[in-house]
Amino acid sequence: MIVGGGLAGLLIGYKLKELSPIIFDRKPFTGKKCTAIISYNTFKDLEVPKEYIDSRFKKIELKYGKRIIYVNTDVIRLNRVKLELDLSRELDVRHRLNAEIKGKDKVLVNSETYSGKVIDASGWKGKAKWVKAIEYLYEPIESDTIEVFFDLRNRGGFSWIVPLPYGTLVGALGYDRPELFVPKLNKRIIERHGGAIPRTLPLIDFETYKIGDRTGLIKTFTGGGIFGISKLLKPLSHAILNSDNSEYVRRYLELAKEIKKQYRIVRILELMWDLIPIVFRILNDRTINAIEEFDFHSLLFTISH
Ligand SMILES: Cc1cc2nc3c(=O)[nH]c(=O)nc-3n(C[C@H](O)[C@H](O)[C@H](O)COP(=O)(O)OP(=O)(O)OC[C@H]3O[C@@H](n4cnc5c(N)ncnc54)[C@H](O)[C@@H]3O)c2cc1C
Repeated sequence: MIVGGGLAGLLIGYKLKELSPIIFDRKPFTGKKCTAIISYNTFKDLEVPKEYIDSRFKKIELKYGKRIIYVNTDVIRLNRVKLELDLSRELDVRHRLNAEIKGKDKVLVNSETYSGKVIDASGWKGKAKWVKAIEYLYEPIESDTIEVFFDLRNRGGFSWIVPLPYGTLVGALGYDRPELFVPKLNKRIIERHGGAIPRTLPLIDFETYKIGDRTGLIKTFTGGGIFGISKLLKPLSHAILNSDNSEYVRRYLELAKEIKKQYRIVRILELMWDLIPIVFRILNDRTINAIEEFDFHSLLFTISH
């Protein structure tokens, strides 16, 4: 059984389709809206067809006032709503049901007990520093570059413009009133969504299998959780199908180490936020290469000219 029919629950459910897993989700519908920017490598690890790529970007521009730092990269925008809807049609997803995990082999739903291996994909449940995100879909604009904006007043947060073929995602995240920092576009708004993103240390607990935000393997600064899902999909399906969790545990701990590092870096960044103008003055007009694995951003920045 899988508790949680978000992206993580549906993807692992699909990997384990031969076991006909039941997926319980307390929400009434499938399909969560988010920015869904991931590295191309992360996309490959999801092992889903390219039809779920809305756009691929080779450049990101980081902006502070008039200053710009260019990032050479390779990221895509995943059409996760379409992906989640398509996956759910192939799976036994039961909505509007709250599932209580009673151990690694037992789940309680509406006073009924279900037995079998349990995967917890129910989103983050522990303590965290929560950042709020708000995002609009505007009409399309002519651009092939992601723009990311920093503002001294939005400590620890940022704003973005992501051009897509059918619209433009424009949003901001931050601890306090991110709506104040959403860039303005002279276009019509098509829709609005948002949510809260946990900044947390990973959960190290192997009592039940876990995947997705439930693990806390979430990139601290950006809130990116799809990266952690992609890296655990294969080891977790292997663990369930072959009753051998060694690779799952190894990969989980490796990711946890990276996220702990990111968590510490973000804390320092927040403390030194006032130095942003200096960083932008030094790096203005320069290019950062983050092509190899954008998601491991704490490891792989190399600066060219
Ligand atoms: C505005 C925004 C922008 C984002 N942008 C990005 C991005 O650009 N890149 C990126 O990688 N990530 C991004 N994220 C994060 C990403 O959305 C999450 O990491 C991802 O949704 C995690 O998927 P999940 O399946 O683990 O959790 P969720 O999508 O939260 O799914 C968990 C599911 O479990 C269900 N559930 C919980 N408890 C129970 C229960 N007891 N019984 C039954 N069901 C239960 C919930 O109803 C929910 O459907 C963004 C998030 C937001 C809010």
